[in-house]
Amino acid sequence: MSRAVAIVGSGPSGCYLAQALLKAAPELRVDLIDRLPVPYGLVRYGVAADHQGTKGIVRQFERLFERQGAGFVGNVAVGEDVSLAALREAYDAVVLAAGLSGDRALGIPGEDLEGVHRAGRLTRALYEHPDAEPLPELGPRVVIMGNGNVAIDILRLLAKTPAELAGSDLGAGPSAWLAGSAIEEIDIVGRSPAAEAKFDAVMVKELAKLEGVTIRVIGAGASDDPEATKKIAALEMLDGHATGARRITFRFGLTPVELLGEGGRVGEARFRDSAGATVALCCSAFLTAIGFEAEGLLLREELIGSAADREAGVIEPGLYATGWFRRGPRGTIPDNRADAQLLAARILADLDARGDAPEKPGRSAFPDWRSIVDYDGWKRIDAAETAAAPQDRCRAKIPTRETMLALALHREELPQ
Ligand SMILES: Cc1cc2nc3c(=O)[nH]c(=O)nc-3n(C[C@H](O)[C@H](O)[C@H](O)COP(=O)(O)OP(=O)(O)OC[C@H]3O[C@@H](n4cnc5c(N)ncnc54)[C@H](O)[C@@H]3O)c2cc1C
Repeated sequence: MSRAVAIVGSGPSGCYLAQALLKAAPELRVDLIDRLPVPYGLVRYGVAADHQGTKGIVRQFERLFERQGAGFVGNVAVGEDVSLAALREAYDAVVLAAGLSGDRALGIPGEDLEGVHRAGRLTRALYEHPDAEPLPELGPRVVIMGNGNVAIDILRLLAKTPAELAGSDLGAGPSAWLAGSAIEEIDIVGRSPAAEAKFDAVMVKELAKLEGVTIRVIGAGASDDPEATKKIAALEMLDGHATGARRITFRFGLTPVELLGEGGRVGEARFRDSAGATVALCCSAFLTAIGFEAEGLLLREELIGSAADREAGVIEPGLYATGWFRRGPRGTIPDNRADAQLLAARILADLDARGDAPEKPGRSAFPDWRSIVDYDGWKRIDAAETAAAPQDRCRAKIPTRETMLALALHREELPQ
């Protein structure tokens, strides 16, 4: 026997942590528990469908299950199918790597109007998350509020022509939704000046390849900071890019004040500029991409608020947090790696300090867990999705939990 570690969440932070733990202590029993029947969190359901290079990180994570001996325990929601307390009883250490699935609210009047949509919900629908709502009707004039990489991802996908999506893993439904969209104009609006925008210059440069748009950048400003200068230069290069009819306008330094509508649907977004003047933009849809927060089964604020060492990710002995769940919605996939390495060292030291205290049973404490999807079950889903990919796609994602489970659990009859 050896010590058992449960990691709640199989996104990048959970995978990097399991990698670091098993590299240093290959005898550990490490399980990655996920509420979904599929692993990898936002790599599958957040990273843009047309950024397959970024998704290539899963080949590294596969080695974790195939060579390092980690277990995947999919389709188990901690806080619902099993309590955190029961998990802590069964494992020597439990790590919360559950990410942040809620969208931050703007907190302005009119946010509840029809036609106002939040980035997390929209991207989950685009990428066929099994719990997603249907894709909404956006109409001809879309305002995107936000100046991070997620806002740019949404802009790029809405602006691409069907041919530009070749090679992605965008499903048939979302592809048809994009192809049939009536969008004529997209405003992308940042609260801060361009110098303080959170997107990367490389994301802006990629927009210069779009084939059906005319782009205008209003008020990119200037800066002495080298990083900000790169962003501003990329925006200046983009200004005037004209390859088609769909108009895109970048605007900066506008604080959202209220959303107005008629008949319950958004029709106008009002902002205040840095001089205090009101700026109004007509819109048939208003999309917010302003960050994420905790939502769901684990009481993050309480747990993180009471952490003994928040920076290190120690909530209390035997209970830890990592990734977005620990730090908040900041950082790219590789940023989770540094976190994982520090926390792995801390967990290993804590496990060592337990001396010859009895080891815990781990997963075998739950003989009655039903419908668990293990790594082989996920590989059956993976194989079915890649085999079903149409010619111009690399995968055809299965959008329903029911069909995923039927495949993963090897049931003969697949639901239609
Ligand atoms: C829309 C979007 C696009 C992005 N694009 C990029 C990009 O192109 N490049 C890049 O480097 N970074 C990108 N990022 C950032 C990157 O995705 C994050 O840094 C990373 O995913 C955080 O990893 P995580 O493991 O903390 O969380 P997540 O990836 O969210 O993983 C959390 C996992 O926990 C599971 N879980 C949640 N609650 C429970 C529970 N109660 N029980 C069991 N399991 C649970 C979830 O199902 C999920 O699988 C993007 C983020 C978003 C939101």
